[in-house]
Amino acid sequence: MSPKTPVVGLLGGGQLGRMLCESGAPLDAQIAVLDVENCPAKQINNNRHHVTGSFKDPVKIKELAANCDILTVEIEHIETEVLEEIDTNGVQVRNADGTTTNKKVAIHPSWRTLRLVQNKYEQKEYLKNQGIPIAEQMAIESGDAMLASMGEASEKFGFPWMLKARKDSYDGRGNFKISNQKDLEQAVKEFGNLSCYAEKWVPFELELAVMVIRTEDDSGKMKRVVPYPVVETVHEDNICSKVFMPPRNVSENVCKKAQKVATSVVEKLWGRGVFAVEMFLTKEGDIIFNECAPRPHNSGHASIESVPYMSQFKAQLTAILDEPLPDVLEPHVSSSIMINILGGADPGSHLPLVEKAKSMYGSRTAVYVHLYGKESKPSRKIGHITVTGFGSITDLEAFAQPLLKMVDAIRQ
Ligand code: ATP
Ligand code: MG
Ligand code: MG
Repeated sequence: MSPKTPVVGLLGGGQLGRMLCESGAPLDAQIAVLDVENCPAKQINNNRHHVTGSFKDPVKIKELAANCDILTVEIEHIETEVLEEIDTNGVQVRNADGTTTNKKVAIHPSWRTLRLVQNKYEQKEYLKNQGIPIAEQMAIESGDAMLASMGEASEKFGFPWMLKARKDSYDGRGNFKISNQKDLEQAVKEFGNLSCYAEKWVPFELELAVMVIRTEDDSGKMKRVVPYPVVETVHEDNICSKVFMPPRNVSENVCKKAQKVATSVVEKLWGRGVFAVEMFLTKEGDIIFNECAPRPHNSGHASIESVPYMSQFKAQLTAILDEPLPDVLEPHVSSSIMINILGGADPGSHLPLVEKAKSMYGSRTAVYVHLYGKESKPSRKIGHITVTGFGSITDLEAFAQPLLKMVDAIRQ
């Protein structure tokens, strides 16, 4: 990238933004971040294009747009009206002589994708109609009709089933497992003011995820979708805690099938960038789509070390800038384990884990610590550890055992 490289505007400057800036640094990429002062991304990337404020504020979004050539996101919960407006009309910029000009700013991924995926119910209805396998779902009425509506869901699906908020959920915060009649009353108390839907319980064997790079030309015609290797994601207390590559005890065939579902999902969305596709794997070997996040994702963190020539963060920049991509994303290691560092009961609960990780050197294995510059709070994602190896995932899991035990202890 030359000094004339376009300025990339980033909505949100958390850990994903920070790692995007890390991957952009050797490329001289200019990344302007809209978020609070001293957010994780700004801590490591000093430039005059940053904007201080909330990525939920349309005025600030326009201010950022005026500072950059292309807008992207590290979070999907963004006001899309203003993005649509910028995409359609461009943004006003003030010239040195006091006059104003209208500047075109590209938005990737498209606001259409963001708008669709923000509503998890609509996201799945759309993809179901495009032939993607999903768990059965039904709309739930809100307000006074909620209880009766949930009764219908109980009859239709049987216990347990999952009540989900359509919007703004992450780390399982918008989910409520309904196991009995009593849960229904509690759910009305907790979710009564939200727009919700019901989802059939999926008794999955395990969860899989695939990151997919998507590019398209300036007219919006899809050019390429390139999938990363499949990973197994483990969720504890509804938060992703560990990620294994390759998935443990999953056949090559099933992995191929998961990649196929993931690429089909991403083909049906709009814009350039990386997209995470979360899926369930059933006992019968069926893949069921769970949800898609159109941005770098926790399940792709190990790509920093396992696919070092094209991590998911570099891929986000490469795709939105429409630069050359490889045909296949072949890992440089045979196995990897990503372990999230979550804040524990005390601000220092995670420190022994970090010290242990820094001290571990094995034969043909490597341990990488990533800290996000965030204050520790219980269950908050404050860093991650990636362990890579040249042997089997079973051997690597044995090597990583001390770390796996320590993270489990922090959660207790
Ligand atoms: P994220 O942080 O990934 O955005 P989220 O808040 O959007 O999470 P989901 O992905 O819908 O939530 O669900 C979180 C986790 O809850 C899933 O990864 C899975 O472990 C479990 N889960 C979700 N839906 C179901 C279901 N229908 N049946 C069984 N388990 C489920
Ligand atoms: Mg989600
Ligand atoms: Mg999820």
